[in-house]
Amino acid sequence: MRIVLLGAPGSGKGTQSQRLVAQHGIPQISTGDLLRAARAKGTPLGLKAKEAMDQGKLVDDEIVLGMIRERLAEPDVSKGFILDGFPRNLAQAHALDALLSELGQPLDAVVQMDVDYGELMRRISGRRTCADCGRVFNLFSTPAEQIQGEKCPKTGEPHKLIQRPDDTEATVAHRLKVYEEKTKPLIELYRDQGMLQSIDAEGDVDEITARLENALRAASKGAPGKKRVADKPAAKKKVAAKKRAAAAKKSVKGRATASAGRKAKSGSKAKSAGKPKRTAVRRAPAKKAAKKVAKRAGRRPVAKRAAGRKTASGRARR
Ligand code: ADP
Repeated sequence: MRIVLLGAPGSGKGTQSQRLVAQHGIPQISTGDLLRAARAKGTPLGLKAKEAMDQGKLVDDEIVLGMIRERLAEPDVSKGFILDGFPRNLAQAHALDALLSELGQPLDAVVQMDVDYGELMRRISGRRTCADCGRVFNLFSTPAEQIQGEKCPKTGEPHKLIQRPDDTEATVAHRLKVYEEKTKPLIELYRDQGMLQSIDAEGDVDEITARLENALRAASKGAPGKKRVADKPAAKKKVAAKKRAAAAKKSVKGRATASAGRKAKSGSKAKSAGKPKRTAVRRAPAKKAAKKVAKRAGRRPVAKRAAGRKTASGRARR
């Protein structure tokens, strides 16, 4: 599966990604981790990224996209991947879309992890990472003494807990603001594409994992989070635009159709989804409008003529 986990800093993308890795055997691709690794190595890109990261700003798209492009070219992504922390703004989302189309590997699901602002602040300020194995803990959910009782798999010693330099209160506030401004619009984007699944990401970590797995199952079945093409606002707009164009061509017939089209939008989605044009001429308000127009034009109502043809061909009328 090719998955994007979308959520504010502290929403648990990293923790849940690690669980998906273990469960599904697909790699986690975290731009935060890639950037931290580049920083640690002291590469020119890493040093450039450092300044933005320490201030809680987004690193330049160019740098992040270069890293993603390289990472997606590695063989272990052939079975799928979990993108954690990427994309983070609209430009990155569009670039990802283009890149995945090029690779012939479109996304299967985007899961938004929903957490309250106050809870995010609490989680981030309590977050500690083992400097050796990279495991993430939270002092609020797991007391330090308990964590210290565990052995680090890398060193065999107790975990060496450190706080990320960008987890200070001021930086966190800025990161949350950046999330609101730059990343949140992606929720709408993926919802419009019928890709979005949202889960409540508060509460017990195992329960959140179960919700996430459910969301992924739903996405792979194409329901219920995935909207059908005809239900998408973009598709609706296309249908409405077609109707308006038809209306402009045939002034008498068009006026009746456009009016019915507007009414059809508020009607049953399921029934009208695949056949918006037919619905438009069959509905009662269309007949009324057509009658009015036809009366003025001095001829037989359009809706009646259209309906007559349909009845004659044996099609059921609503
Ligand atoms: P969090 O999601 O908790 O903010 P991350 O480890 O994902 O933590 O990111 C840490 C920092 O790395 C971000 O504040 C930002 O500076 C940088 N970063 C990570 N991913 C991106 C990205 N896709 N685009 C730009 N900057 C990024």
